[in-house]
Amino acid sequence: MIRVGTGYDSHRLAAGRPLILGGVAIPHPKGPVAHSDGDALAHALIDAMLGAAAEGDIGTLFPDSDPKWKGADSLKMLAQTSARLAGLGWRVVNTDATVIAQEPKLGPHIPAIRGRLARALGLDVSRVSVKAKTNEGLDAIGRCEGIAAQAVVLMEKEGPEKESESEAKAKEESKEEEAAE
Ligand code: MG
Repeated sequence: MIRVGTGYDSHRLAAGRPLILGGVAIPHPKGPVAHSDGDALAHALIDAMLGAAAEGDIGTLFPDSDPKWKGADSLKMLAQTSARLAGLGWRVVNTDATVIAQEPKLGPHIPAIRGRLARALGLDVSRVSVKAKTNEGLDAIGRCEGIAAQAVVLMEKEGPEKESESEAKAKEESKEEEAAE
């Protein structure tokens, strides 16, 4: 069984905060305003993985109301997501992501970012693609007020089918709806 998932994340940028993307600290005078370390790329990937498995989203797994995740290393959150989904039989086939940032130039950091993400996911780096774009000066991202990331993940479920709690619940609810019709 293969499934595709998509993820998106954005953060406002403020002066004097560290800019972390895909677990890599990138020299820049501004960084994300966030409860965790604000790694938009890691967050988009987490949502894409959870989306592929229909297992909710990053907010349900790592609520920003929980002090546990304050300043959290998002790569740990990514590795934890991967482990949780692996427990349900899911593994990532490949991922492709795009970071949208007017500044700084991300090209030189892409190999390090791919390496760190691949390690966090336990994947060969050839399965992890990361691209970067500016926003051509348009909108808030173009004015360097924010940063965004998009990710697509293809996942494969191997072995005997294990139904997760959320799958069982969704099935039950759809049965109840059918019965009500
Ligand atoms: Mg985020």
